[in-house]
Amino acid sequence: MTSRKFNLLLSLFVVLFFLFSLTAGCSSQKVIQEKEENQLQTEADARENLPAQSSEEVKTGGEPKTVDPTRCPLCGRTVSRHEIFKRPIAVMIENHPKARPQSGLDEADIVYEMPVEGGISRFMAIYLHSDKSRIGPVRSSRPYYLDKLLEYEGIYVYFGGSPQAWEDIARLKIEGINGIYDGLTFWRDESRKKPHNAYTSIKKIKRTSEMKGYDRDVNFKHFKFCEGEEVPEGEKAETVILKFSPFKYTVKYEYNRHKGGYLRYMDNKPHIDRETHKQLSAENIIIQKAKTMVIPGDDAGRLNIQLVGKGEGYYISKGNCIKITWEKKSRKGYTYFYDTKNKEITLNPGTTWIQIVPYNAEVQIQ
Ligand SMILES: [Zn+2]
Repeated sequence: MTSRKFNLLLSLFVVLFFLFSLTAGCSSQKVIQEKEENQLQTEADARENLPAQSSEEVKTGGEPKTVDPTRCPLCGRTVSRHEIFKRPIAVMIENHPKARPQSGLDEADIVYEMPVEGGISRFMAIYLHSDKSRIGPVRSSRPYYLDKLLEYEGIYVYFGGSPQAWEDIARLKIEGINGIYDGLTFWRDESRKKPHNAYTSIKKIKRTSEMKGYDRDVNFKHFKFCEGEEVPEGEKAETVILKFSPFKYTVKYEYNRHKGGYLRYMDNKPHIDRETHKQLSAENIIIQKAKTMVIPGDDAGRLNIQLVGKGEGYYISKGNCIKITWEKKSRKGYTYFYDTKNKEITLNPGTTWIQIVPYNAEVQIQ
């Protein structure tokens, strides 16, 4: 072989090698890109509150999309086991018009909405897996929220409370983080006025919980979830309207058949998350009617809501509604919800909003 021929072959070899490397580089780049897209899609699906894939489906795609999948006991969605917290976190979030739009209600597994004095409502959002970097505005406690908190053995995050709430939190030895005494877990957002501007994050709550020794495994009862999708056998429920008071406290849910869930409106406007601008939604709505009265002699007209005992309500999901009853035998006991055949209800996987209303509240279900 002449040296000219040898050089020609060598050049050809270099070019071929370069082309091969480029192709291989592209395909591995493509694999990484696809993985990232899959990850983003999984996250997007979770944000969109679409039904999560079952662990079977996760495995059929070749690469597992959810690492070590498990079912979240509070929302019934499939999530990675490592994402699940040891203890549920319960945050008091206010609903004054100056507090809207709130941050973080979109990532809660369960949200309770109950009336407080003056015809307004307040939320307690329960989280078991989220890394939300802004939750709030955080507001004060009322004793009847503790009745629900105790069911989860949750870490309670709040900013002060009514006299009865202070007393009960101490007496019941509730493990919580109170913004009044805490300089690490909360911050004030100067773009909003006090008291509608105290915020926190999951990261900060977890750090403080570890410091306080709250970060431990707990046992708690939870809802039963169905496999796939179950339409409750009852009346049509595509629009749900609840009035805490006539002005600015009308709650509306509209069923979205495409998403399979209910979009939430507050005061006739889409109720959105402040950060994501995404409209809040619920797969399940439970309306729990409870005896409610103004505490005699209370200067602010604070309420006493009886959440221990029995009562009535509605379970609404997938465009339908059934009448239910509820029962809670003690303050630390679990609230059971039963259908008309006295069978415990089974929820569809997804976010559940529990609306606690007085018996005389205006409730429209159409
Ligand atoms: Zn969950």
